[in-house]
Amino acid sequence: MKQAFLLKYGEIGIKGKNRHLFEEKLVRQVEYALRGVEGQFRVTRPQGRVFVEAESEIDEREVTEALTRVFGVTAIAPCVYMDDTGFDDLAKEVVAYVDREFPKKDFTFKVDARRARKNYPLNSMEINAAIGEKLLDAYPTLKVDVHHPEVMLHIEVRDKINLYATEIPGPGGMPVGTNGRAMLLLSGGIDSPVAGYMVAKRGVTIDATYFHAPPYTSERAKQKVVDLAKQISRYCGPMKLHVVNFTDIQLAIYEKCPHDELTIIMRRYMMKIAEHFAKEDGALGLVTGESIGQVASQTMQSLLVTDNAATLPVYRPLIGFDKQEIVHVSEKIGTYETSILPYEDCCTIFVAKHPVTKPKLERIVRSERHLEDVIDDLYAKAIDTVETIFIE
Ligand code: ATP
Ligand code: MG
Repeated sequence: MKQAFLLKYGEIGIKGKNRHLFEEKLVRQVEYALRGVEGQFRVTRPQGRVFVEAESEIDEREVTEALTRVFGVTAIAPCVYMDDTGFDDLAKEVVAYVDREFPKKDFTFKVDARRARKNYPLNSMEINAAIGEKLLDAYPTLKVDVHHPEVMLHIEVRDKINLYATEIPGPGGMPVGTNGRAMLLLSGGIDSPVAGYMVAKRGVTIDATYFHAPPYTSERAKQKVVDLAKQISRYCGPMKLHVVNFTDIQLAIYEKCPHDELTIIMRRYMMKIAEHFAKEDGALGLVTGESIGQVASQTMQSLLVTDNAATLPVYRPLIGFDKQEIVHVSEKIGTYETSILPYEDCCTIFVAKHPVTKPKLERIVRSERHLEDVIDDLYAKAIDTVETIFIE
């Protein structure tokens, strides 16, 4: 008898070859999530099931918590996992399990057996009846209710047998690694970590680019972004974080372009530089935390002008979210507390009092011509001096 966890996952659209890939990546992400957890584990996938088997003493709550961070998992069922040593042994295990898990024996239950191995001597109905009887003998205060049981006792008979009664919801989505790679523009704010989380949830591997502007932005502002990257990597897996020194480009824009266009021009250069690293890393798109109308640089007109600077598609998973909804997700994934730390970000320093809210592309492009003499060198230098940090 062993303590284990049965992982359930959505199976729609993962037939054939895809299913194999899906399960492989799922196992890899499970192993990654368990790295920081006390104990030894073995992840196995017998017959289209994924089990995490504990090979030592473990803390069930800690393991469950780690598994709720694995995209692709729809539910986690802590279970008893055992070899088939005959029906009497099974019945004993079930009786002991119910004793351990439910100290108060005052509930209604139903046994839901599934015999996937046809040479087992009892069929599913017979297992239900026989186990039900053993439980009622052991705990006469229990009652059977086949329509609305308070406790559903699942018994799956395969090569081995597993037994569980509770399921904890997983995050859903698809395992990271099943859907290509994207470059997240990660700032120290609330939105972009959530945006990265949401794209990773669809199975996309994430790398990140952060623009800082020393000495206008502090070392602590950078550390904050590193911390946010670490926090989302608990879900997304390991990632590269490219830290780009953006000071000279920002100063040049400040010096040579109309001040009400600063933010939008700056955002366009961020896109271009992030795209450079995206292509280097083999990423297929950019990801930002923008949502329509949140600030002047996120009106439909501004987004159009920003988009135009990139050739890769720009994914904005928060596009229709209100701030409150974004905050809600950031609290759930544990980035909120870090995001609200006060350190200045580069956008907050070079901002105009009255930024354009309806920029015209032609006009912005014309303003950018003022940078002609310097921008190629500054752009090359920003890329050459990048600091790449590996986050796990
Ligand atoms: P967030 O949107 O993450 O809360 P913010 O509100 O400071 O940060 P915005 O001005 O809303 O940033 O910027 C919109 C998006 O542009 C961000 O979600 C992020 O994807 C990107 N971005 C802004 N500043 C930076 C930066 N310094 N480094 C990398 N990306 C940035
Ligand atoms: Mg924002």
